[in-house]
Amino acid sequence: TDYLARIDAHNPTLNAFVTVERARTLAMAKEADQRRAAGQAGPLTGAPIAHKDIFCADGWKTTCGSKMLENFISPYDATVVARCKEAGLVTLGRTNMDEFAMGSSNENSAFGAVRNPWDRTAVPGGSSGGSAAAVAARLTPAATATDTGGSIRQPAAFCGVTGLKPTYGVVSRWGMVAYASSLDQGGPIAQTAADCALLLNVMAGFDERDSTSLERPAEDYSRDLERPLDGLRIGVPKEYFAEGLAGDVAAAIEAALAEYRKLGATLVEISLPNTRLAIPAYYVIAPAEASSNLSRFDGVRYGHRAAEYGDLDDMYKKSRAQGFGAEVKRRILTGTYVLSHGYYDAYYLKAQKVRRLVAEDFQAGLAQCDVIAAPVAPTVAWGLGEKSDDPVAMYLADIYTLGVNLAGLPGIAHPVGFAANGRPIGMQLIGNYFAEARLLNAAHRFQ
Ligand code: GLN
Repeated sequence: TDYLARIDAHNPTLNAFVTVERARTLAMAKEADQRRAAGQAGPLTGAPIAHKDIFCADGWKTTCGSKMLENFISPYDATVVARCKEAGLVTLGRTNMDEFAMGSSNENSAFGAVRNPWDRTAVPGGSSGGSAAAVAARLTPAATATDTGGSIRQPAAFCGVTGLKPTYGVVSRWGMVAYASSLDQGGPIAQTAADCALLLNVMAGFDERDSTSLERPAEDYSRDLERPLDGLRIGVPKEYFAEGLAGDVAAAIEAALAEYRKLGATLVEISLPNTRLAIPAYYVIAPAEASSNLSRFDGVRYGHRAAEYGDLDDMYKKSRAQGFGAEVKRRILTGTYVLSHGYYDAYYLKAQKVRRLVAEDFQAGLAQCDVIAAPVAPTVAWGLGEKSDDPVAMYLADIYTLGVNLAGLPGIAHPVGFAANGRPIGMQLIGNYFAEARLLNAAHRFQ
């Protein structure tokens, strides 16, 4: 109830939550108390959590930030939501997001932008801006989020909190509204790496209902938290600290690297030569997959249906024209174009080849070090409205996060300081496949 009171007090200004259902939350809390009384409590029983509005939750509105799903009440739980329930976590509500997770500022939500708690004139980042802002403003201790091209790490950095994007396939995508299925991955946002580890313990694990879920032995992601960092080799990719990186961000990361050295790490310069190509490759592949995934929103089975229409074709057209926002339409058009006969080889196939090169860069880099240090974004959070008319400027700001998704690697963003204007600065650590525990360990020792 303390958190519900904070949500009541601060959500009207921040707009981090799109749905709060007090009675339902209190019922879950009561159930958790009963489990505790019966001696069946786990480490997180009774702890509050907020879910990004992309995860289907039985009986909850699941809008994905879209008018298309404005009135959609999910009839089932996503695997992530089901696991959180089993662990006894209490849902505080549903967090705002860019429509269908497309965006880097949360300004693409059909339910209004989210404000950055550190500076209410700034964006919180996106697409999981609601989750990051809610954690930063202490409206919830932790939240679920998803990362297709940076949507866990970048809002975490912009809001001064910690976010982990796991290895592709570690967290089930079942019941998570699909944006770009080969890139989408769920993960936690919380104040600290230790909290992210606890939450990942709940979220991760094989799920036969997700065909890309990986079947591996269960891990305790908290196991290495206290491990000393002596001998940790941190790779510093020269392409990530070149032109385009804001001075204040570069300075904060350099200071953080010096701190890591004090903690026992050594720095190695590495090269990721195809870094620049991650943006064009991602902005071909992600829209291509989105154009296919979003074809299911046709107004027939669920979702928005136009009130008036002529024939079936007209119904599809009007429902989709009314239900989708501008950025989603832009992505569907781009995706349909790059997949069309005659352009497929030039764009989609080419992008897939570049994707492989980017992944190979990381393998070559990670052969020389244990983790790679990087900025999360070239600048701190920008002002609300500052980039909303310039989609390309917004895409370019994703330069440091997209490669991780193209390669399927894990990455963690953790806070390292503030810019002169008071906006938080985050830093990213990237590991090889399944190196989550090591990333959490490094971030934890730093914190
Ligand atoms: N900003 C990127 C995009 O707009 C990434 C979003 C995400 O990770 N969901 O596609």
